[in-house]
Amino acid sequence: MLALSRALGGQLATLLASQGGGALSGGLRAAAALSGTRLFSAQPSPADLDRAADVLETFRARDLVIERSTVQQAPINLEDLKFGTVFTDHMFHVEHEAGRGWGAPAVKPLGMLQLHPASQVLHYGMCCFEGMKAYHGADGRMRLFRPDQNMARLRRSARRLQLADFDPEELLGCLKQLLLVDRSWLPAREGFSIYIRPFAFASSGVLGVAKPGRTTLSILLSPVGPYFPTGLKPISLFVDEHHRRAWPGGAGDCKVGGNYAPTIHPQVQAAERYGTPQVLYTFRESHQHADQGEFEECGAMNVFFYMQKRDGGRVLATPRLSGTILPGITRDSILQLARAWGGCDVEERPVTIAEVRQAHEEGRLLEVFGSGTACIVQPVGALVRSNGEVFRPQLGTEAALTGSGGSGSSSGGEGSLSARLQRTLLDIQYGRMEHPWGVVVE
Ligand SMILES: *Cc1c(COP(=O)(O)O)cnc(C)c1O
Repeated sequence: MLALSRALGGQLATLLASQGGGALSGGLRAAAALSGTRLFSAQPSPADLDRAADVLETFRARDLVIERSTVQQAPINLEDLKFGTVFTDHMFHVEHEAGRGWGAPAVKPLGMLQLHPASQVLHYGMCCFEGMKAYHGADGRMRLFRPDQNMARLRRSARRLQLADFDPEELLGCLKQLLLVDRSWLPAREGFSIYIRPFAFASSGVLGVAKPGRTTLSILLSPVGPYFPTGLKPISLFVDEHHRRAWPGGAGDCKVGGNYAPTIHPQVQAAERYGTPQVLYTFRESHQHADQGEFEECGAMNVFFYMQKRDGGRVLATPRLSGTILPGITRDSILQLARAWGGCDVEERPVTIAEVRQAHEEGRLLEVFGSGTACIVQPVGALVRSNGEVFRPQLGTEAALTGSGGSGSSSGGEGSLSARLQRTLLDIQYGRMEHPWGVVVE
């Protein structure tokens, strides 16, 4: 109860963060209500695959074996850090074999993998991954952002591929230890972070398209620089009405490798023909008119539309999680923040090309932006269709001017909604704002 009264004294967020974002007790909810603090849900949005209770087999973080690297890597030059090219000294590794269960989880020196050439991952793409970051906080402490969500999503993806199951809390325990071993790699600079890449794949050397007999689960750490070194810059998106990223009943809602390999071709094609760096996928039934196409998401970002309504109010709309869309953690965080702030309707629903065209024509398309761990919020300056139409949101360039870029803090004007969201999420990630989503690693 001492903890509880401290919570009422304003430390609630810290307290909740130390709970690891798990289920909150009724007592804490009541305390939050009493203190007027809004409780942000730490629970995932979609569905039925997240129950950790039914894990039959798992490795345990307390069994982790740490083997330290004896090789000293050359210091990195933060100025020209290219995304995903530099890796820290250590990696996490654990393997599961049918009939024998999980082996001992290990943190070991970064090294090559040895794979049988028949490994199922090499033939059938039986692999899945996560993307998350660790941040050097304003108080010098290392923080993760809603890590329980990434762990739960990796488990969901692994289950979709019939890879070996595990307890996501145990994997988070292992990740924290890996981060502490390689803590010196975390740049103490605004905008920098360690990109975390957990991944799992079928490592059985068997050519059958069947449930894998062997699963490898690993984590890589990669120091990365700011996604936008010079502030939020809007990009153009090609609205692809031909290729599909995912389809009903498929695995578009899981981060499985097979969803990504086929997106390179449309992306390269769009870059060549329209000069757009990314593709915005759409979906429609074959009998529907092209304008009835619904926006889905980009190859690795969810998408939001901020529009003036005809009756004067405003709406922030994003495609609903229909099964063909990846349930982004940034997406969910944006929805929760926007709902907490009020001031506009927040809707998860179909957003059609026809609706956005009309909003554009009537000057009501205020902002379009993507969301994901890498960029957090990515303003979109133009949506380009193959029929020559271009939809330009009103604030496409204003977002560029008001973005927090490097300076960060929540000072500065109100600016665009995307800039405000970006600033708030950065404040939580870098520990300038105490919040249950910021999880300290120590
Ligand atoms: C990872 C990913 C996102 C963004 O998810 P976050 O959890 O916000 O990083 C969106 N779409 C796709 C297809 C993705 O793979």
